[in-house]
Amino acid sequence: MAPKCQDFAKHLKGSLATNYESIDPCVDFDKYSCDGWKATHDYRPDQSRVSVTSVLSDNIRDVLHAILDGPYAENTTFTGSDRESDVKNFQKMKTVYDTCMKEDAIKSYGVAPLRKILDQFEAIYPVNGTTKNNATQKEELTDAVSWLKKVGSVSALFSSSTGADDMNPDTVFISLGASETEMEKKYYTMPIPLRNYTRAIAEMTHVIQSAKPIDEYPIPANENASLYEKAKRIVDFEQLIASKTPDPEQSADVKYSYNVKTLREIEASVPELSIIKVLQDIAPPGYTVDAQRTVNVADRNFYGNLSTIIKSTSRQTLHDYFEWRLISTWDGALHKNYSAPMRRFNNRLVGRDPDAVAERWRTCISEVDGTLGHILGGVFIQRMFSKKDKELGDQVIQDVKNVFAENLKTLDWMSDSAKEIAAKKVVNIISKVGFQTKNPDEQKPQELSDYYANLSITTNYFDNARARFEFNQNKTWADLLKPTDRDRWEMTSPTVNAYYNPPINEIVFPAGIMQIPFFNGELPEYANYGGFGSTAGHELTHGFDDNGSKYDDTGRYREWWDNSTTVRFENETQCFIKQYDQFTIEGLEGEKVHVNGKLSLGENIADAGGLNAAFRAWKKRDIAKLNPSLPGLEKFTNDQLFFVSYANSWCEKIRKEALLRQVLGDPHAPSDTRTNGPVANSPDFRKAFNCPVKQPTCILW
Ligand SMILES: [Zn+2]
Repeated sequence: MAPKCQDFAKHLKGSLATNYESIDPCVDFDKYSCDGWKATHDYRPDQSRVSVTSVLSDNIRDVLHAILDGPYAENTTFTGSDRESDVKNFQKMKTVYDTCMKEDAIKSYGVAPLRKILDQFEAIYPVNGTTKNNATQKEELTDAVSWLKKVGSVSALFSSSTGADDMNPDTVFISLGASETEMEKKYYTMPIPLRNYTRAIAEMTHVIQSAKPIDEYPIPANENASLYEKAKRIVDFEQLIASKTPDPEQSADVKYSYNVKTLREIEASVPELSIIKVLQDIAPPGYTVDAQRTVNVADRNFYGNLSTIIKSTSRQTLHDYFEWRLISTWDGALHKNYSAPMRRFNNRLVGRDPDAVAERWRTCISEVDGTLGHILGGVFIQRMFSKKDKELGDQVIQDVKNVFAENLKTLDWMSDSAKEIAAKKVVNIISKVGFQTKNPDEQKPQELSDYYANLSITTNYFDNARARFEFNQNKTWADLLKPTDRDRWEMTSPTVNAYYNPPINEIVFPAGIMQIPFFNGELPEYANYGGFGSTAGHELTHGFDDNGSKYDDTGRYREWWDNSTTVRFENETQCFIKQYDQFTIEGLEGEKVHVNGKLSLGENIADAGGLNAAFRAWKKRDIAKLNPSLPGLEKFTNDQLFFVSYANSWCEKIRKEALLRQVLGDPHAPSDTRTNGPVANSPDFRKAFNCPVKQPTCILW
């Protein structure tokens, strides 16, 4: 037996509860499959959760760490045909990494670069409200918001970005949304996080003013009251913004978030600020922004609200809020001693030790990933993703697509005409596997070098952070000048994740997730289909969840279902909502908090459909020699091992506070629920484990 297979057997067996034989898998399959894993894994102080996924991420980071710590290795990319560019790319990446690692140099500039940004902003929007050159209040506010966006990397009062127009997927347009807030909306009604946040603002403000770390120079008694008073005003203002911000389940719903308006209409609803002028300042030359220009308003109520917010807020508060947004955006580029108040706040929010700091190299690998992700990706795939991996990945995905399409024919709640388009939609789904191969191709050093040519990297950490922001911002807004880039990936290849993108109708699987224990050519097929296959099915089913199903076979957002199909689909979604509303977690004071069935609906539909499709796809393949039983697991049938592999991919230990945060704002249900929910919705699972109830609780796909 292949060594990888033996390791996998050990991993799977060790993950099972030691007393699994006395646990009913039909009641708590997560406990059954994961209690052993939970007993043998613990968080690092800087982690709020540890999971099979996070362990894989760590393994990948270890590989990247070794590469970045070492000298240039020959043949860094696949082809090795362009050594000169390859060396250059590696050096650029290494400079980002080394500069990030030199904490003494970062410490030596103190808070000076952030102070400089704040001084520049003060000249644009002075606190005392004296208008220069007879500028009106409106002109000054407009200049401030524009500068914050363009130079400060801050979305203040409203957010703006670019993306495919859901009704015309090849067209890129501007999308406007509510202002970003530091915390998830619900936290603005909770006393403890609000208190911690207020403290962080007061202390960070003091650090910036005094230019000394808070631990060396705590707030003097005579300044305490005024700093806290200022912090309280900022928090109150954010609280007001949060109260006018859509709930996360609204934002995720295209019916709520797709509203095409002309800028004239928007301008009329916010007379206190010229949104046209702000957008003109950001948009690239050659892209006309005028009153006729149509944009998307991702929050249909926000702009009326925005006017009320501005009118009811003093200039002093707006100024202080803007200043704070700059501090909270750039504090991460300061030495850890200076950013301590913010780090403590963030740690407390997710239940970590307040003073926990990730090892520097981990932070710096994230930094390289965020700055030169395609170069890092090229190096990663060269070591950890083979042609064979790609072929097997393609096969699993194709199998899952095939059974999904076949299953459509059997659905009694869908009309024939809807089935026909749905089948076309499955055929049309583009799957991207491994890494980006165009603009740039991660295997081609010259393309990579050209792609990042305008990103100038120095040996100053703060300057690199600013350069990265500017580079990404320019790319985002330059998109307006071209049709939608269908070759682009929204994740880098070392990422352990996957996604579905509705207007492009694509499913995307970075090489990071196509690794042991989810996927490997040497593993039994039930493991590959239970692990990676169910992820493939999950992403595919997103095309048919409560949101994805509103996009047709070409990725266009339009009504393509008849009435009776829609009604029956919505009836069944109620089943999912009720089912997941029943799951609870423990709140901060020991109270029960329910999972939000509405917020997590799309993910739960995708989990159920993905698991069903993966199982059926595997059954079609089930060739004895590719599905050997594993040492120590001979008691299980292969059908059972398929589901054990699935559950194993969700094994996780999470801190109470982090779990609460997930339930409040994340569409993904807690990981134990992501095992217990989908298996209850799987007739195949209930058969495999001979459960008393054979019918699934809820089923759509
Ligand atoms: Zn998902």
